[in-house]
Parts: sequence; C-alpha cells; structure tokens
Amino acid sequence: MRILIVEDEPTLGQQLKTTMENAGYAVDLSTDGEDGHFLGSNESYDAVILDLGLPKVDGLTVLDRWRKEGLKFPVLVLTARDGWSDKVAGLDAGADDYLAKPFQTEELIARLRALIRRASGNASSELTAGAVRLDARSGRVTLDGSPVKLTAQEYKLLSYLMHHKGKVVSRTELIEHIYDQDFDRDSNTIEVFVTRIRKKLGQEVISTIRGLGYSLEDPQA
Ligand code: CA
Repeated sequence: MRILIVEDEPTLGQQLKTTMENAGYAVDLSTDGEDGHFLGSNESYDAVILDLGLPKVDGLTVLDRWRKEGLKFPVLVLTARDGWSDKVAGLDAGADDYLAKPFQTEELIARLRALIRRASGNASSELTAGAVRLDARSGRVTLDGSPVKLTAQEYKLLSYLMHHKGKVVSRTELIEHIYDQDFDRDSNTIEVFVTRIRKKLGQEVISTIRGLGYSLEDPQA
C-alpha cells in the first residue's frame, strides 16, 4: 500500500513518513500544495494524508482539484486544533476523515488503515486467504496459525494482493503501489518477490494470470 503525505512542517512530515514506512507502507512526502497536487494526480496512492495549511496551494484547494479530476483515493485531512470550520470545509471538499493537531501517531495510523480497508471493501483488518492470515494492525503474517517472516517488500506485495483478493492485479499496478517514487523500480523484482512469497506460503497462494498479472484467490471461497 502506498501513501502520499502532504505536510509542510519538516519535522512532522519526516516523522510521519518514517512511522508509516515502519508500519509497512510505501510513502511519498510532499511539502507544498503544488507539488502535492501534482503527485496525487500523477502517481498511484491508496490513501493521502493532507495538511490544510500549505504553501503555494492550500490543502482544501488541492483536495477540491483532485475530486474534480475524479480521483477517489481516501483522504485524511490534518486540521489546526479546534479548527471546526476546517473540518466541515474539509469534509465538504471530499475528505474521508480528519484529525486535529496535535495528534497521536497511533491514532493517525489506525484511521488511515481503516480508510484503506474500507476503500478496498474489507470489513476487518485481519485479511485471510485460505490458510494465510495477514493482520494489517500488527503487520504479522501467519500460515495455518504459525508466524511467517516476510521482508518489507514481500509484505507490501502480499498486503496489496490481499486487500484486492479475487481481482487480477497487473505487475505495473503492483509496482505503483509497493514502491515510493524515489525507489529504483524494476518490474522483474516483482516476479522474484512472488516466487519468494510462494516458497514461504505455498505455491497456490498467488496465481499467475498469463499476460495480465497476479491474483490471490481464497480456496474456500
Ligand atoms: Ca501546515
């Protein structure tokens, strides 16, 4: 899952980026409204954290532009403390949730996780496919109840497929959603990650759909 953070306070922005990366997300950080708007319109994100008070273009305008462009990714807006009118304006402009500063990072992560889950149509943060279980809260993966250790990139790939269970996901889509923009992307590495995940979780867990991509099916479904 890939996230865009648009936040102009350098310390807060960097801290959020590090926290989100440690929680298993690919993260891009933008520090002004113009650049943030550009990234949101041109890259592929599963959710966006958007500060409202931004240089160049303010957050509400950015959000309004994205929605007018038809972009539907979930957006969590960061507002000033007690800025109730900001919250109302944010929700009216198409925000899915908001959080007032200062906030606990844990709450932000939990809210973001819920937004991503709802956007992909999952009711629980425990995702399952056959004997494989992925807990998006703890980042743990188990096979028949036994913990399985995945690398950060393997986890990101599996998590994306599990959030989109039953759908065919192309290699390009996977690349767009598991790497941040600074990453040196190589589509061949996707095949390598899939091979490693199959070794750890079983060959049948991810199906290759020739010429289209990959699909994760639930054998019990
Ligand atoms: Ca700000």
